[in-house]
Amino acid sequence: RMNTDIGQHILKNPGVAQAIVDKADVKQSDIVLEVGPGTGNLTTRILEKAKRVIAVEQDPRMAAELTKRFQGTPAAKRLELILGDVIKMEKLPYFDICISNTPYQISSPLTFKLLATSPAPRTCVLMFQREFAMRLFAKPGDKLYSRLSVNAQMWAKVDHVMKVGRNNFNPPPQVESNVVRISPKTPRPQVSYEEWDGLLRVCFVRKNRVLRSGFLGTASVMAMLEANYRTFCAQNEIVLDDGPLEGGEGMDVDEEVQEDDGAMLMDEDDEDVPDFFKEERDKQAKKLLDDPGRKKKGKVAELVRSKVKKVLEVDTELAEKRARLCDEGDFLKLLYAFNQEGIHFA
Ligand code: SAM
Repeated sequence: RMNTDIGQHILKNPGVAQAIVDKADVKQSDIVLEVGPGTGNLTTRILEKAKRVIAVEQDPRMAAELTKRFQGTPAAKRLELILGDVIKMEKLPYFDICISNTPYQISSPLTFKLLATSPAPRTCVLMFQREFAMRLFAKPGDKLYSRLSVNAQMWAKVDHVMKVGRNNFNPPPQVESNVVRISPKTPRPQVSYEEWDGLLRVCFVRKNRVLRSGFLGTASVMAMLEANYRTFCAQNEIVLDDGPLEGGEGMDVDEEVQEDDGAMLMDEDDEDVPDFFKEERDKQAKKLLDDPGRKKKGKVAELVRSKVKKVLEVDTELAEKRARLCDEGDFLKLLYAFNQEGIHFA
């Protein structure tokens, strides 16, 4: 019996299974990470080509079946099975290629995890729900353009491999699927993944708002940037003139600040993030918002505010642009200008 709650839809068309493995262009020396091997329809084909397969499976029943399938065969020695949730694994083992008929609930966190992996794998061939696959290709201004789109296209070249109808699976899922290939760029862009994604998180929380309001008008974002700026200064032995602001100047900053729902670093790409991640993030956002120092208009807060304003209005002139219309070049320009001012996102 399949557990569709965790995306168990076994690929029953052998032609599609073979095509997925063929598209990964596996070499004899390759270590392949397979996410969600299930009963092993892809695994057996990967083992024919790869040096080693590391398969991560969450469901113990499936894992037992997989073990049984290869027990006593010569391939068994080249198969390492890890029982667990791939998203909860703090560090993935080294691999050259990732292949997965992806359980759809983890499409987004798995993709981010693969894009963040360094050294980057040579290629990833992944089956996704069609709408998710389209998000990887979306361009500025498209309805599906999101933090996921920007990240995918920043770190990798994304190709469409093939469409797969729902009847190729048992049981058939509700929606159609697509196989995509994500090939990380070489050399890897010399940008910190955490900084880049941290910037995108701020920009895409409300992708229809202009950047000015996403930054200067959002108290939790400004609190985070101030906290990061303090850390940056401490690390670089920059002495800050701390303390409350005296009188007039800058005292009206909160007028611009809009209702802050505390969901600060959540965007549509977090919808399918597992709950324990969301809880952690909510906790962090709440901590920043509850910080009693936040409401006091301090000199450091004001300094950070003026830096952010300068970056948006003068250095990049992107203050009035909406994230959904910004392209990779705009985000790179922003990150560079912020970092020049000592403003960091991670
Ligand atoms: N690879 C098989 C195939 O193509 O026929 C099965 C694919 S099925 C769509 C997804 C598999 O991923 C299931 O076996 C499921 O138990 C497993 N799975 C679901 N969530 C997972 C997670 N977070 N980590 C690892 N495996 C997971």
